[in-house]
Amino acid sequence: MPPTLAEVLARETRDGELYDVLPDGRLRCYACGHQCPLPEGAVGVCRVRFNEGGRLRVPWGYVGGVQCDPIEKKPFFHAYPGALAYSFGMLGCDLHCAYCQNWVTSQALRDPAAVSPPMHAAPDAMVRDALRLGARVLVSTYNEPLITAEWAVEIFKEAKAAGLVTGFVSNGNGTPQVLEYLRPWIDLYKVDLKSFDDRHYRELGGRLDPILDTIRRLHAMDVWVEIVTLLIPGFNDSSDELTKLTEFIASVSPEIPWHVTAFHGDYKMDGTPNTTALMLQQAAEIGRRSGLRFVYAGNLSGAVGNLEDTRCASCNDTLVARAGYRIRDYRITPNGCCPSCGTSVPGRFDAHVAGQVASQPAVIRLRR
Ligand code: SF4
Repeated sequence: MPPTLAEVLARETRDGELYDVLPDGRLRCYACGHQCPLPEGAVGVCRVRFNEGGRLRVPWGYVGGVQCDPIEKKPFFHAYPGALAYSFGMLGCDLHCAYCQNWVTSQALRDPAAVSPPMHAAPDAMVRDALRLGARVLVSTYNEPLITAEWAVEIFKEAKAAGLVTGFVSNGNGTPQVLEYLRPWIDLYKVDLKSFDDRHYRELGGRLDPILDTIRRLHAMDVWVEIVTLLIPGFNDSSDELTKLTEFIASVSPEIPWHVTAFHGDYKMDGTPNTTALMLQQAAEIGRRSGLRFVYAGNLSGAVGNLEDTRCASCNDTLVARAGYRIRDYRITPNGCCPSCGTSVPGRFDAHVAGQVASQPAVIRLRR
């Protein structure tokens, strides 16, 4: 019998750093908001971290996928526009969203249909590869990066030594411990705020509070945060829920960009109707009424008016014009301001933009 994926991945581990030993001998993992208490031999909700002989074993030394593509695809719109983001993921997730668009990697340990073998990888080789391809940013994405935080930090240490910017694309189900652990090594953080209803989060396998706490903490830590909400008809698109969600973001900071993006049928939710451009525009209007200064509509390029562009919060001048992931015009000054009125644009910007490095993704092959 060939080994199962779980057996293969159990060998691709090392001792973790994000846990305590409880008085009864169980291990408390702090990599995500579940904070699993793990007795000897137990596997966490994520199915990739486990207690072996009183030590927490965590994923190490592999990736489930690597790709180099525009940072706008993550999406980050206020962080190094036009840059290439070298993106890697491992396998597994702490949630089980029925509409996951990365289910082949995120649900690899839950769903036998998700066939996604690991590829061996080394941090120094990945960073060399990122530099060779002209990447400015290195991002942990595709699966949930919090559950593999130790491996991400190992790569981020190499990346930062080489002058790269680092980031997570995450569901935000964090803990104070994992955020402090990441803090010295991470610059950008995209949180997928899926709903503002705790009952909805429980359907997905999580809770709302840890996600809200993560957003507050990241902002207080001065990590650059952008938030995405995939607008799913009948799930999270009521005016009441969107008002509460966007009022929460504005209460943390009205300068946090909010991306409301279009759902299309995927994975176990291929019978739900797709989000229309009008739905995105109405949601964006709710975000603006809640006080958010930077609201974007995604996944329906060309159908959402100027909701793909960055405009000055003071004079409304267009600062970055986009068509999907492609930048059509870039007018932010070298010191990060609007050229018309001088208002500072929140985000992370280089003094000089090299234009868009690539509009097409570059696929990278690592050794299986
Ligand atoms: S990462 Fe989350 S789900 Fe996995 S063991 Fe740790 S606390 Fe549990």
